[in-house]
Amino acid sequence: NSLFESVELAPRDPILGLNEQYNADTRPGKVNLGVGVYYDDEGRIPLLQAVRKAEEARVEAHAARGYLPIEGIPGYNKGAQTLLLGENSPLVAAGRVLTAQALGGTGALKIGADFLKQILPGSKVAISNPSWENHRALFERAGFTVETYPYYDAATHGLNFDAMLAAFKAMPEETIVVLHACCHNPTGVDPSLEQWARIADVIKARNLVPFLDIAYQGFGEGLEQDAAVVRMFAERDMTMFISSSFSKSFSLYGERVGALTLITSSKEESGRVLSQLKRVIRTNYSNPPTHGGTVVSMVLNTPELFALWVDELAAMRERIRSMRAQLVEKLKAQGVKQNFDFVLQQRGMFSYSGLTSDQVDRLRDEHGVYAVASGRICVAALNSRNIDYVAQSIAKVLA
Ligand code: PMP
Repeated sequence: NSLFESVELAPRDPILGLNEQYNADTRPGKVNLGVGVYYDDEGRIPLLQAVRKAEEARVEAHAARGYLPIEGIPGYNKGAQTLLLGENSPLVAAGRVLTAQALGGTGALKIGADFLKQILPGSKVAISNPSWENHRALFERAGFTVETYPYYDAATHGLNFDAMLAAFKAMPEETIVVLHACCHNPTGVDPSLEQWARIADVIKARNLVPFLDIAYQGFGEGLEQDAAVVRMFAERDMTMFISSSFSKSFSLYGERVGALTLITSSKEESGRVLSQLKRVIRTNYSNPPTHGGTVVSMVLNTPELFALWVDELAAMRERIRSMRAQLVEKLKAQGVKQNFDFVLQQRGMFSYSGLTSDQVDRLRDEHGVYAVASGRICVAALNSRNIDYVAQSIAKVLA
C-alpha cells in the first residue's frame, strides 16, 4: 500500500500546457504569444548590459557566499523602496517603510499572505476579475477565502469602473484588496490616475487593506510614472502591502528577484512587524539567495549601471509600444473591420485581444499562432519577423 495511493493528479497549468503544445508543433512559422516573458526583436530573452556588467564585476570580486540576513540585502531593499516611493519619501524618513527581499513577486505575495493570515485570520481576499491566475491559488493556499471584484468590461475592452468602485464600497472592513498597480495582467487595462484616486479614497474610507502588486514597473509609462499609484496610496497615509518584482524589468526571471514592502503607522510598529515577517521567512526558506539580489542591488546602487538599466528598460517599453502600434496598423491593412484601437490604450506586456476561445483555437490549429484561451496575447513576443504573419492569421480567423 503506497503512501501516495490516494494522491490525485493535479490539473496542469494551462499556460505551461500551451508551451508544451507549442514546443511539440513542427510548423516552421509557429508563434508563441501565450508566454509571460519579454522577448527582444530576435525572439530571445535579453540579458541586459547592466546585468552583465554587474555580474562580471561580481565574478571578478570572487565574493564568498555566506548566508544573507533573513530580510535580504540592505542595498537591495533600499533600492526597491526608492523605486516604489521615490528618493525623498517622508514615510521612509519616518521609519514607516520596511522591505524584505523575496523570491520573485510570487515569493513576496506569499510571505505577505502568510503574515496577513497571522494578523487578519478572518478577512477575505478580493482579486480583480480576471487576474493573474496565481493570485487566487496563492491566497487560498495561505488559508484565505478569495473573491473577485468587477474589473474588465469585454463590451468596451475597458474598465468596469462603476461596478468596481461599488464592490469596494460594499466590502466588509479589513477585506484585503489585491490591486495591480500598473500594467494589469492579463488584460493590459489600467484605471486612469483620476480613477485610481477615487479607488484609493474608497479603500481608505472603507478601511480595506490594500495589497498592491507591481510586477511590471517600467513597462507602462516609465519607472517613476508607473509608481504613481503606489505613491498615491502612500500619500493617503494608509498601512499597506506592496509586492514588487524585478523579473521582467531586469529580465532576470530565473533569479527570483522580488521584494515585499510594508508601510506601517510608526517606526516602533515597523520594528515589531519586521520581527514577525522575519519569522515567516525563517520558517519558509530561512533567507534569500545571493546572486540575483546582489546583481540587482549593484545596478540600483551604481549610478552608471542604473543609468544604463533605465535606458535598456525604456528600450523594452518602447519596443512593446511599437509592436502594439504595428499590430493595429497591420490589422487595418489586412482589411479587418473590427476596431483594434483599444490595444494602443493597454499597458504592459499583455493585451486582451478580444479574440474568443474559438478564434484562439483556430489561430493555433490553422495558423500555428498560440494565445491563451481568454484571448490574452503577449505583445512582447511579437517582433519584426513574426508580426505580419500574426496580423494575417488574426485577419483570417476574423474574416
Ligand atoms: N504578479 C503579477 C501580476 C504577475 O504577472 C507576475 C508574473 N507573471 C507576478 C506577480 C510574479 O512575478 P515573479 O515572476 O517575479 O514571481
